[in-house]
Parts: sequence; structure tokens; C-alpha cells
Amino acid sequence: MSIKVLLNGSRGRMGQAIAAAASDAGVSLCACLDAGDVVADHIAACDVIIDFSTHRATEGLLELALAHKKPIVIGTTGHSAEEKTRLLNLAQKVPCVWAGNFSIGVNLLFALTRRASAILGSDYDVEVVEMHHRFKKDAPSGTAARLLEIIMEERKLTSEALRHGREGITGERTPTEIGIHALRGGDVVGDHTVMFAALGERLELTHKASDRGIFARGSLRAAQWLVGRGAGLYDMQDVLGLK
Ligand code: NAD
Repeated sequence: MSIKVLLNGSRGRMGQAIAAAASDAGVSLCACLDAGDVVADHIAACDVIIDFSTHRATEGLLELALAHKKPIVIGTTGHSAEEKTRLLNLAQKVPCVWAGNFSIGVNLLFALTRRASAILGSDYDVEVVEMHHRFKKDAPSGTAARLLEIIMEERKLTSEALRHGREGITGERTPTEIGIHALRGGDVVGDHTVMFAALGERLELTHKASDRGIFARGSLRAAQWLVGRGAGLYDMQDVLGLK
């Protein structure tokens, strides 16, 4: 029997991509909600919630998921560090898949970035470049933020190492900084490059998304995987068995 999904943010770009992919994935949408709708009125009938609305909705949705014992897939990005700390605590109390990117290729990029960061020492400068469509409201992207976290973990650096763009007299690049650059324009679905540049060679790991369907199918797969699991915070690496 197909699982019943409550989709929040249904009128958005991702919401529409999920609605288009649902029936092929064997999922039925029991509620398609957007700004102004009351999630509490519809939550009882669903097996799982998928949210691609706004980072401002995450806390309220997690509280509802907890109160109604419903699993939840969170796709929104752009949470502040403060919001994230509060949310991570809540997210562990329900079955929750939270991923900044639901594509299989990007999840492999995460694994490759971890490996390259571990192998290539501090004489390889790391820069992350992302590009998205002109309508995107937050920067850097959730995927870029995850790539940066992975690099910081492997290089034992903190967020003080991050350099968001550069301008003016910056001085020479230090080996402990990590550059991050967000490009915006047109209809780009999502490009990410992690660059390791040494004197004499440069390695670039690049992923380019050309269709939002990859995130939609990934989030539906995550929803199916999550139903019936115990409380805990999972990511796409868990869903895809990449850990
Ligand atoms: P969008 O602006 O096209 O759509 C967002 C939708 O949410 C809109 O229809 C809006 O009316 C609705 N909305 C706003 N506030 C709401 C609220 N309080 N309750 C319910 N609905 C509300 O954006 P998008 O491109 O579809 O992206 C949505 C989110 O998903 C963003 O945070 C984006 O960064 C993220 N995203 C994540 C992935 C991933 O793989 N994790 C992929 C693409 C986009």
C-alpha cells in the first residue's frame, strides 16, 4: 500500500516537482499545503510529512510532528546557526530525515569531498563555489554549507576559517581559510564545485543538477525509508546506505 504524505510548501518549485514525481514513486499525497494553510488540521491522516516551504516553518512543524508522532522529512535550507541548534534537539525526538540535498550524486560528492580533504593536506587551498537560480532566497546553499562542514571536520577547523567572497585589500590567502562563493542567476537548479588548489595542480569536484526531479525523488525515497523507523535524526547518507 502506498504511504500517505502531507506535503508542505506544495505551490513552490520543489513542492510541484514532488507532486509530479509522487505517483511514479508509489506515494499518495493526502494533503498539499502552502502558506496560510493549517497543518494541524491535516496531520492526523498522513503517514509522513515532507516539508519544502521555508526555514521559518521548521520549528512549528517539528513540534507538530512530535505531538502527533509523525515522521518528517525536512528539505528546507537557510536556518541560522541559532535556529539549527534548537531544531537539532527537537529533530532527534521524532523519526526525521534532514538533508540539505536529496540527490544521489551530491551525496556521493559529500563522500568524495571528505576523502579528498583527508588526503590532500593544508598545502591544497580549498574553495567552494555554488550557483543557483535568481530566485533563491538564501546563501550559501544548504549543500555548500554541508560541504564546508565536511571540510572543516576533516581539517579540524571552525567556522572562523570561512571567507564569504573577497573584496578589497584582502592580503595573501592563508592556508587555514576556506573560501565560499555564491553565484546567482537565471534558472540554474544547483551547481557545486569543491576546489583543491596547490602550487602546480588543482583538483575540482563538481556536481551539476539540471532537474529538480532528483531532489523530489530523493525526498520521496527518504519518506518511504522513514516510515516505521524509530525516533532519530537521519540524513540522506543513511537513506542511501552510504555510511
Ligand atoms: P519556493 O519559494 O519556490 O517555494 C516555497 C513554497 O513554500 C512557496 O509556495 C511558499 O508560498 C511556501 N511557503 C512559504 N512559507 C510557508 C509556510 N509558513 N508554510 C507553508 N508554506 C509556505 O522555494 P523552492 O525552490 O521550492 O525551495 C523551498 C526550500 O527547499 C528552500 O529552503 C530551498 O533552499 C530548499 N531546497 C532544498 C533542496 C534539498 O534537496 N534539500 C532542494 C531544492 C530546494
